[in-house]
Amino acid sequence: MKRLSIAIAGCGVAGLACATLLRQLGLNVVLFDKLETPQPLGSGIILQPVGLRVLDEIGAGDAIRALGAPIQRLFGRAEPRGNVVLDVRYAARGKDAPCGLGVHRGALFQVLYDAALAAGAEIESGRDVAAVHEKRLVFADGAMSARFDLIIDALGMRSPLSGGAPKPLPFGALWASLDWAGGFDEAALEQRYRQARKMVGVLPIGRLQGSPASARHAGKATRMCAFFWSLKHTDRDAWLKAPLEAWKDEVRALWPETEPLLAQIARHEDLVFATYAHRTIADPVSRACVHVGDSWHCASPQLGQGANMALLDALALARALETQSNFDAALGEYARMRGFHIKLYQLASWMFTPAYQSDSDAFAFVRDWIMSPISRAPFAPAVLAALVAGEIGAPLVAIGSRQSAVR
Ligand SMILES: Cc1cc2nc3c(=O)[nH]c(=O)nc-3n(C[C@H](O)[C@H](O)[C@H](O)COP(=O)(O)OP(=O)(O)OC[C@H]3O[C@@H](n4cnc5c(N)ncnc54)[C@H](O)[C@@H]3O)c2cc1C
Repeated sequence: MKRLSIAIAGCGVAGLACATLLRQLGLNVVLFDKLETPQPLGSGIILQPVGLRVLDEIGAGDAIRALGAPIQRLFGRAEPRGNVVLDVRYAARGKDAPCGLGVHRGALFQVLYDAALAAGAEIESGRDVAAVHEKRLVFADGAMSARFDLIIDALGMRSPLSGGAPKPLPFGALWASLDWAGGFDEAALEQRYRQARKMVGVLPIGRLQGSPASARHAGKATRMCAFFWSLKHTDRDAWLKAPLEAWKDEVRALWPETEPLLAQIARHEDLVFATYAHRTIADPVSRACVHVGDSWHCASPQLGQGANMALLDALALARALETQSNFDAALGEYARMRGFHIKLYQLASWMFTPAYQSDSDAFAFVRDWIMSPISRAPFAPAVLAALVAGEIGAPLVAIGSRQSAVR
């Protein structure tokens, strides 16, 4: 295939991963982002084993592992009875099976950004992409980019190139990155629920680049956690108007051990509200562009898969462009490699989300009295662990099977 010039709209997980992988193939790559200083928004995420494999391909796996916190288990209790209704252990897939990694979004962004720059990608910031016209990006101020051979839409779930912001799900969440406090499992995502209406969670996310690796050496805590509280977007204004202390009382009532974390939250603005949506556009490839990451498929974060999906998309697109001589065939191959896995996880996410975030007592009942006992049946722990690890549907095999093996 001739040396392509590629525009990537969006400097998030998908865009930066694509940029590095495509530069590694020797293609010309220019990234565009609306932010003057590209940076991540939000708190922490879990990188699943499949996503970590892609970061290894990019050459960023060791750097992110050095910053993140290994996550061995996802654990949740339903109050007031305190019964365990979520207990997924990565080791259920086998003694040496890789676990997840809790990371600060800033750490993931920096590692990917450094990799893209080191690979030679150009980055144009302050470029608000509004549309595509004849292989050129059209910006909000009316300016146009040069013409490219391929435009990749990595603008996230509100991408104007994939139909704009989708309808949000009823529940979102308040998030904050806080200093790690004792009293929580250092290797688990822990959650507490009251029915499916209330949920509070704590996820270890390691540290940011540049902060000392050892709290003992630094003389202060540098390890962090992501703290989140489920909130309906229709309740957000009322939450903002009410005293913060009233909300803290609600959190304490559900999980008293969060007190040292709550003490770090002084103002409503210390928490960021994130909305979620479910949407998959039918075909990721059009005459205008090819979609990767959330601009193709977005879901609530209950299964913790979005960033992993974005990384897998990037690897699939790079492999397809590497191995197909015909440009159309490469894009078709990309859609084929990812289609099945994406459908499977969109379905799973759609099914699981109401068990953790909804107004319905019925969903909480199903979670506590049907899903939870089933999850302890023989083979179920391994299947659930594989689901969380992102391995159901064998996405790496799909990317590697017709290609040269995934290195
Ligand atoms: C609260 C929350 C928790 C989550 N937890 C997890 C988790 O545990 N595990 C996991 O794998 N995933 C998780 N996700 C999902 C994950 O964050 C996303 O799936 C992932 O970030 C998608 O990457 P992306 O590159 O497609 O989009 P984004 O990361 O959203 O990047 C989009 C980029 O495009 C830029 N941009 C947007 N619009 C424009 C425009 N018009 N012009 C120019 N630039 C623009 C933005 O500035 C940004 O840099 C979570 C998401 C949320 C909201």
